[in-house]
Amino acid sequence: MTSNSSIEFSEDSSGLSLHEAVNEAKRCLNCKQPKCKEGCPIANNIPEFIRAVSLGNFGEARNYIAEKSNLPAVCGRVCAHELQCEGSCVLNQKGKPVKIGLLERFVADFAFDANISHEKIVSKTRGKIGVIGSGPAGLTVAGDLAKIGFSVTVFEALPEPGGVLLYGIPEFRLPKEIVRREIKQIETHGVNFSVNRTIGADLNVDTLFGMGYDALFIGTGTAVSKELDIPGKELIGIVQANYLLRMIALYGANQIERKELPIHTGEHSLVIGGGNVAIDAARSLLRMGAGSVSVVYRGTRGNMSALKSEYDSAVSDGVKFLWEHVPKEFVGEGQISGLSVTTPSGELTVPAEKIYLAIGSRPANRIVSTTGGIDVDDNGYVITKLRPYGMTTRKGVFAGGDVVHRPATVVMAMKEAKKVAAGIAEYVDAVKLLEL
Ligand code: FAD
Repeated sequence: MTSNSSIEFSEDSSGLSLHEAVNEAKRCLNCKQPKCKEGCPIANNIPEFIRAVSLGNFGEARNYIAEKSNLPAVCGRVCAHELQCEGSCVLNQKGKPVKIGLLERFVADFAFDANISHEKIVSKTRGKIGVIGSGPAGLTVAGDLAKIGFSVTVFEALPEPGGVLLYGIPEFRLPKEIVRREIKQIETHGVNFSVNRTIGADLNVDTLFGMGYDALFIGTGTAVSKELDIPGKELIGIVQANYLLRMIALYGANQIERKELPIHTGEHSLVIGGGNVAIDAARSLLRMGAGSVSVVYRGTRGNMSALKSEYDSAVSDGVKFLWEHVPKEFVGEGQISGLSVTTPSGELTVPAEKIYLAIGSRPANRIVSTTGGIDVDDNGYVITKLRPYGMTTRKGVFAGGDVVHRPATVVMAMKEAKKVAAGIAEYVDAVKLLEL
């Protein structure tokens, strides 16, 4: 698929050259008890792959990473390294951790460019698994189970697999071609993808079991954006940030025209929120030609869930931040013209031609409402068990990622999905043994 390659969409950080990667890897102290590995939610083989890079053995480095991760080029770009592996590196005590994220990215990109990502394909004899949703959780379950002999089909509602990786995180942080290429690699393990397939509409859990699936995994994320329930919410010009990001992704892939985007060149916009989505929306708006963008946040910089590195990038792009501004009312007549807020120094109205909401999301109930026996909590999150890990209240139906654990991160979705994949394997093996 061709994609829009203008400056708005080009990746904003460059990776390491071969020379830089080897030198960076040589900085590793080879700690006896590697804290970096402890800091990685999926316990990536970090010391091992870094050592291989330092010796120039890039294929070996790639194999160490592939033992744990199906999405190394993605994680190398969007993981919160500063809080995880790099934050735990002993050299971080002096403020100069080994650049583990960039090294992972280098290895993944090198392996692709040099075409050295060959793995043994295992024959599919252990059972048939249906995975619903193709974000990092679904992709991880699919990849892990295919590698140990399960036949896996992934059902995805959207036209292309990838979930938030494709339709949420902007191109300038995570190029879509990188996501597509990691999915292709998962496909080479024998995983089938069925796109434009909304489970709960075309098919439901019962019909899937009727088609012979031994177990199902729900990894459908949190698709419903939260509204801000204050006066004036019906005014024209209030847009969900997730919708904006999805439309920009479609425009970047030449699937819609620029005039279909919910943004007008030169507009003065506000983004309400304090997480990844708010920062991504704000930075995307500036790239797409907004006149000014301010993030309105009810807390201080210290309370924001967005990473410091993301905040710094937003500031250097020109995004303004309004701290301790609590939204009270959308102001305007028919069309939005401002946001009335309470601040520590009193009330004021911030003028705005457009307001984007990035205040969170929750799961849709499409799957659980079209089949029986899958319990959810009061907010719609799927309830799962510890044994077999990740099974819902319905036998054979498992769940993981944001739809269980609330909106988190790519690697947290992967961590849970890995444990659920092990739970699914244990369950299917046990059922088949009892059938003998
Ligand atoms: P998702 O990625 O949401 O995938 C769910 C998939 O299920 C979607 O493809 C959806 O279309 C599909 N689906 C839903 N319902 C159905 C159905 N009924 N039938 C079939 N398919 C269905 N995390 C980081 O670590 N670093 C970041 O920099 C970062 N930035 C982010 C930026 C944005 C804008 C957003 C929104 C999130 C960001 N996150 C980031 C969080 C991270 O992307 C999520 O935690 C992660 O994607 C969750 O993975 P998941 O597989 O559970 O769900």
